[in-house]
Amino acid sequence: MGSSKEVLVTGETDGGIQAVKAARNQSLWREINERIRTVAETSGNVEFLCECADLECTKTIHLSTADYERIRNSPTRFPIALGHDLPEFETVVEASDGYAVVEKNGRAGEVAARMDPRSRSDEVPPNA
Ligand SMILES: [Zn+2]
Repeated sequence: MGSSKEVLVTGETDGGIQAVKAARNQSLWREINERIRTVAETSGNVEFLCECADLECTKTIHLSTADYERIRNSPTRFPIALGHDLPEFETVVEASDGYAVVEKNGRAGEVAARMDPRSRSDEVPPNA
């Protein structure tokens, strides 16, 4: 994409730091879940970690690897346990049985997208 690669400007007052922190935390969970998904490799339901902004949160959510893939298609969306959303920074875009999907807003979304392990390489695998 054509987005700039500038270093994050810190010190913004509009909730910037908090949003960035939240996005960072969530990106950590996401990396762990990426590993869980890789190990699982089945199409059944897998126990993923809640990807909410709370680093202390150890709640697990059940979703299929297909659903996880679908959510992960967007670098700014995270699967979380119901009620774990932070309305200041994210919007619930989906709520189903046992888990919700949030989309990060504004700055938090930018950070989340930048920290997406899948966005780090620009390789586009050819689709057969
Ligand atoms: Zn949580």
